Amino acid sequence: MKIIAVHAYTIRSQTKHMFVWRQGLPGSDTTTEQTWLRLVTDGGIEGWSRTPRGALALDLVERRLKPWLLGRDPLMKERLWHELWEIDRIEEFPMYVMGWVDSALWDITAKAAQLPLYQLLGGYRHEIEAYASTVTYATTEEYLDVADQCLARGFRAIKLHAWGDARKDAALCTALRQHVGPGIALMYDGSAGFDPYESLYLGRALEAADYLWYEEPMREFSINAYRRLCAQLDIPVLTAETSDGCHYNVADFIAQEAADMVRTSSDYKGGITGALRVAHLADSFQLSAEVHGMGVENIHLCLAIRNNHYYETLVMANPIVVEPCIGPNAMVQAPAGPGLGHDINLKAMQKTAVAKL
Ligand SMILES: [Mg+2]
Repeated sequence: MKIIAVHAYTIRSQTKHMFVWRQGLPGSDTTTEQTWLRLVTDGGIEGWSRTPRGALALDLVERRLKPWLLGRDPLMKERLWHELWEIDRIEEFPMYVMGWVDSALWDITAKAAQLPLYQLLGGYRHEIEAYASTVTYATTEEYLDVADQCLARGFRAIKLHAWGDARKDAALCTALRQHVGPGIALMYDGSAGFDPYESLYLGRALEAADYLWYEEPMREFSINAYRRLCAQLDIPVLTAETSDGCHYNVADFIAQEAADMVRTSSDYKGGITGALRVAHLADSFQLSAEVHGMGVENIHLCLAIRNNHYYETLVMANPIVVEPCIGPNAMVQAPAGPGLGHDINLKAMQKTAVAKL
């Protein structure tokens, strides 16, 4: 099989429900931009994947990816994955670019095998429980109200993204535990908002409130800082979400005892190929590799990776808005069709694209 055409389509839309980051800091989005990658093969099979960027993604397709991919066998993913690292050394890709390419190649492979991707990857489960991963809300009262809505919707696990103020966030986490009682799994995601001392203060509060995990309190630049934090706390510290270098880097987090659980995802860990490497690396140390983020790629990973426990779904707005894939009791079912299962309307995409190749 050969790749005979490489296309990309950038779709821009106004977000119906704003993604609120910390206290309305830069990062809160009112528009969404996605670029779809379309790999056409001589076998009639097409591979699709998307990345949350526009002009940057198109530039990379035009300059680097298209000339490299044309004529290549998409089933030789391992080879192509290693070549991407070579190109990365020159280009210094944003991390999600590797996943963007790799996922489209896996889409082709699973379609060729006529299997949903998760079964091609091994298949561990057919459904998985989602946790409600909040955006940032204005007050403690609003968080408690949102939590009630999540529980009414069937969620039994909630993760907070909050203000990025260690003392205020600690008080919020304590209030939420008192509000929902002991039977609900609670997690907290610091999204790298703290220094080591704030991280320790907050971690102690989460421990006292029986949180399931404490995620990424600091930027993942310093393995030493994470090693110290892990030694100081009993609560599992979940990290290596946005650290660059896939399993090569996660190996050091684990070897230095700087992570109690690690993150894996198609977006930040080099696609399906990289995400599995991280998961298997963690498994060999009997650690969890919790899948980060939404989308069909990550659903397939959640269904294929034994040492992952939940699907992460963002809960936006108030009243809450939940992804359509979240079923009763917050369960997510396996996509049935072959490949990744993207729902593509090519004509509509070609018509509405604000830029394309
Ligand atoms: Mg996170």
